[in-house]
Amino acid sequence: MYKPIRNEIFHVHTRRCKHAGEESDREYVNKAVTLGADRIVFTDHCPFPGDFFRNRMDMNQLEEYFKSLKDLRSEYENRIEILIGLEAEFLPGFKGYYEELKGNASLDILILGQHFYESPDGVWSYLEPDKSREFEGLFEAMVAGTETGLFDVIAHPDRAFRRCKAWNGELEHRSKTLVGAAEERGIYLEKNYSSMERKNQYWKPFWDMVPEELCLYGYDAHSLSELEERWRKRKQ
Ligand SMILES: [Zn+2]
Ligand SMILES: [Zn+2]
Repeated sequence: MYKPIRNEIFHVHTRRCKHAGEESDREYVNKAVTLGADRIVFTDHCPFPGDFFRNRMDMNQLEEYFKSLKDLRSEYENRIEILIGLEAEFLPGFKGYYEELKGNASLDILILGQHFYESPDGVWSYLEPDKSREFEGLFEAMVAGTETGLFDVIAHPDRAFRRCKAWNGELEHRSKTLVGAAEERGIYLEKNYSSMERKNQYWKPFWDMVPEELCLYGYDAHSLSELEERWRKRKQ
């Protein structure tokens, strides 16, 4: 079971996801050591069988990802702790696949990053022409994912409101349901530095509802420079 520590760099991507810098895993680890972190947590975008979804490694890169980070872990043993994770959307059709991942001894942490969702008629939400009510589906999927107990952390939960203009009772209600589900299971919610840098992705009224002990900060670093900048601006 994952437990955050002080002085850790949580939520780091790698070149495999196809929208990150070209730096190697070793360069991220070296940078984290130089900055003085005690731990680095890699959570690259999770591949899915069939490779239907964009912006992530291919299924056949997963073993190489695990091996690369395990080798670095042995090599850097006395300098920094390395955790190996994945960031995945919760898609009910892949339940068996998540269970398989959880049973994989190479994986230390699975985080829920709901970038899209599977609608009840089986359509992926990014294909829906009207995305104005997207937050409803994203929140429902995050609640369902939380209830499976498969995920250790919910990444950038408030990013689901990115298309919303102002806080209101409905957003409040959705948030309350998710925070309640997370609290019940002791699942952490991630305040995401990348969201904080963007418009309408970080919602303070959401965080006002979250108990301090369930909050953690995530870098969402897709390059060495993002990792370094966010370390300098970090809140803990
Ligand atoms: Zn990404
Ligand atoms: Zn994400």
